[in-house]
Amino acid sequence: MPGTGTLNGKRAIITGSSSGIGLGIAEALAKAGAEVVLNSFTDTPDDHALAARIGAAHGVAARYISADMSDAGACRRLIAEAGGCDILVNNAGIQHVARLEEFPPEKWDTIIAINLSSAFHTTAAALEGMRTAGWGRVINVASAHGLTASPYKSAYVAAKHGIVGLSKVTALEAAGSGITCNAICPGYVLTPIVEAQIPDQMKTHDMDRDTVIREVMLARQPSGDFATVEQIGGTAVFLCSDAADQITGTTISVDGGWTAL
Ligand code: NAD
Repeated sequence: MPGTGTLNGKRAIITGSSSGIGLGIAEALAKAGAEVVLNSFTDTPDDHALAARIGAAHGVAARYISADMSDAGACRRLIAEAGGCDILVNNAGIQHVARLEEFPPEKWDTIIAINLSSAFHTTAAALEGMRTAGWGRVINVASAHGLTASPYKSAYVAAKHGIVGLSKVTALEAAGSGITCNAICPGYVLTPIVEAQIPDQMKTHDMDRDTVIREVMLARQPSGDFATVEQIGGTAVFLCSDAADQITGTTISVDGGWTAL
């Protein structure tokens, strides 16, 4: 059964969507009727099966295209291979935590490439098609760390502040052409990228898992709860709606009050 949602006829590419927030956004856009193109750097039967499952669940076309977002050429090829898009979600991201003096330079380069430069390359490749269509949505998944900082996350915080700036420039250059660009700034969402930080935090603070979650991670989040991938997906769908036509060049925080502190 073909999708009958508000995003019928729109094609969405979501980078880094084999898990976590990207997958949640892909599900939400598919549920709203968009054709979805999933992406990560691997190319396994499971990756393609995941896209097939989403397509079947929501009655939309769904594909998986492998492309490494740390590689500029691969970023641009992803857009070309998909045949362009109406909705581009720049979501791929990684984390590394270390003191500035000990931060491995190659980790810095990789984080800047995946979390920031990839969005420059995909957006540059996607804009022409959106201009021709007279409609487009560029949604950059930044972070509360695009607006505030934490120690030991130099590359991540720099990249996320950078992507907030890139969102503003994209919005200004596209203004008046039916294209908007915004950054979603989630607080903590319990996904694999966050799970991976818990054992280190347990060691550093000599705490058990629940205490680390409550007293270290969610200490920054006044609501005391993680945000969910469904909530981030819903925010992306809203940004694609007519109601959001004049929302551009800004950030939307989904952080339980983190940035209000
Ligand atoms: P995740 O680890 O579950 O997902 C990251 C995705 O990016 C995965 O699909 C992974 O395969 C993909 N990816 C990694 N390297 C890639 C590469 N080189 N090329 C292509 N794809 C690649 O993490 P997540 O929490 O879902 O994070 C998604 C985005 O949300 C990231 O940009 C992250 O910074 C941001 N974010 C997450 C949180 C959180 O608390 N989880 C908070 C704020 C912002």
